[in-house]
Amino acid sequence: MIVQYGEQEVKCSVRRTASVSGRVRIHVYPSGDVEIEAPENIDVDQIKTAAQRRARWIFKHRDAAIATRLDALPREYVSGETHFYLGRRHKLIVKISGAQPSEVKLLRGKLEVSLPVADRAAVRRRLNAWYNARATQYLGNKLAEICNHITWVDDLPPFKLMRMKTQWGSCSPNGTIYLNPALIRAPRHCIEYVILHELCHLVEHNHSKRFFDLLTRNMPSWLAAKQELDSLAELILAGDD
Ligand SMILES: [Zn+2]
Repeated sequence: MIVQYGEQEVKCSVRRTASVSGRVRIHVYPSGDVEIEAPENIDVDQIKTAAQRRARWIFKHRDAAIATRLDALPREYVSGETHFYLGRRHKLIVKISGAQPSEVKLLRGKLEVSLPVADRAAVRRRLNAWYNARATQYLGNKLAEICNHITWVDDLPPFKLMRMKTQWGSCSPNGTIYLNPALIRAPRHCIEYVILHELCHLVEHNHSKRFFDLLTRNMPSWLAAKQELDSLAELILAGDD
């Protein structure tokens, strides 16, 4: 069944079901596929009318599903694709400029990489170097700032960036704080949560009730930040290779 919205149209599959009480229900899947669930006793014209009435909703959700899927694909380092920085999507612009040395500029929602040749590997190297430099600076400053606000740290603990596949941070038994440089792609409050979490491990080297009490006292909203970070993990790590 075809649903139209302005100039656009989308093919929807129709599934007949006995369980729905007289209502037509529409599902938009993460793949972007649209399914119309309709009771047995409703004829095709009625289904079409019901689906057409919700065309705007269908297209909005389908476009969002497709955008999310594109975000999760491996990056190709070409103009137009999006890269996360501090939780925001930035459009990558690759600019060929033979005159200047290569550089990365962050401006109004865009990440502009200028270099002598449009070579994807070179764009990737240049961009990753920029992300690493930003991560070193931003995460280091943030760690120092949070240490200023908490009572149990006198001297700044040793801090290192370390790429990790499944963790955002860790705290070694000797008190070194390790942070995943990919965090620089996450929203600021999620970064703060991870840093505070690791700093709490300087006192409690476990996930005991005392650990979570300490964390909650210092960041009452930590659970929301953690859930947001978990939900973004796939998108953020897709861009970090
Ligand atoms: Zn922990």
